[in-house]
Amino acid sequence: MIDLHTHSTCSDGTESPFTVVKKALSAGITILGITDHDTTAGWNEAQSAMAPQIQLALGAEISCLTDDGISVHMLGLLFDGENEQMQRMLADSRDTRVPRMRKMVTLLQEAGYEITMEDVLAASPDQATLGRPHLADALVSKKIVKDRAEAFAQLLHNDSKFYVTHLSPTPVDAIKTIRAAGGVAVIAHPFASRRGQTLRAESFQDLVDAGLNGIEVHHRDQSPDEQHILSEIAVEMNLAITGSSDYHGAGKVNQLGENTTHLDEWEKLESQANARRVISK
Ligand code: AMP
Ligand code: ZN
Ligand code: FE
Ligand code: FE
Repeated sequence: MIDLHTHSTCSDGTESPFTVVKKALSAGITILGITDHDTTAGWNEAQSAMAPQIQLALGAEISCLTDDGISVHMLGLLFDGENEQMQRMLADSRDTRVPRMRKMVTLLQEAGYEITMEDVLAASPDQATLGRPHLADALVSKKIVKDRAEAFAQLLHNDSKFYVTHLSPTPVDAIKTIRAAGGVAVIAHPFASRRGQTLRAESFQDLVDAGLNGIEVHHRDQSPDEQHILSEIAVEMNLAITGSSDYHGAGKVNQLGENTTHLDEWEKLESQANARRVISK
């Protein structure tokens, strides 16, 4: 089973990279993507949990914004982790997430919610890319909401008045940076409409021109109809089709291996990286 999109405590997952790999082994995953938001901080620890039955596709999920303000997530897999341009792009995003969080906390305070930046930092593991799920966890510990899902539904969704963006590359820039670092780019859950406004089908050509390699078709936030349209786009544009869990430990209901990628689609994707970077033991 191939699951190319998971999160750990290096971003907004609730389990360490070591635990995610061990759980993937128990779940029968044979190729696992480690794709924390805007960081490669979990790569080394994930490798320390390796066993012969599992291979790792190390990567990151890059938060992007289109010029017209639509939030897009781009999975970068198999890039050179030492690439300076890539690490600069990831660091810029992480750095601006701190003032962005302060702004969100201030907006909530102004609306009467008793929450502080210290509460959010206390809810965020060391090394973690700071994100809305940590703010959600702080709101849960303050008993303002009951869980992350309720925090997002009521206060933190993309159209909320408390939502603030952080510095993000455009999807085209993210793809170019991933490819320049030797990796492959897969657009994550592009039609996940319940999260907010999504890309229009017409926008895919620009992404393909920038070097897009695949589309995450099978993902729980996309309906069967949305998945059908996306697989047609993928076939038409000769892009690899992936499926994945977007596992976040206890932070979401998503379970490892609940959506998977076919071996031939994986091979098509992997062959487009500029070096063989899959990690085996
Ligand atoms: P941020 O990167 O700080 O804008 O936060 C976005 C993250 O919030 C994404 O990784 C999502 O996985 C997570 N997220 C979005 N909606 C929900 C939800 N309803 N419950 C839990 N996590 C969510
Ligand atoms: Zn996440
Ligand atoms: Fe995502
Ligand atoms: Fe994700």
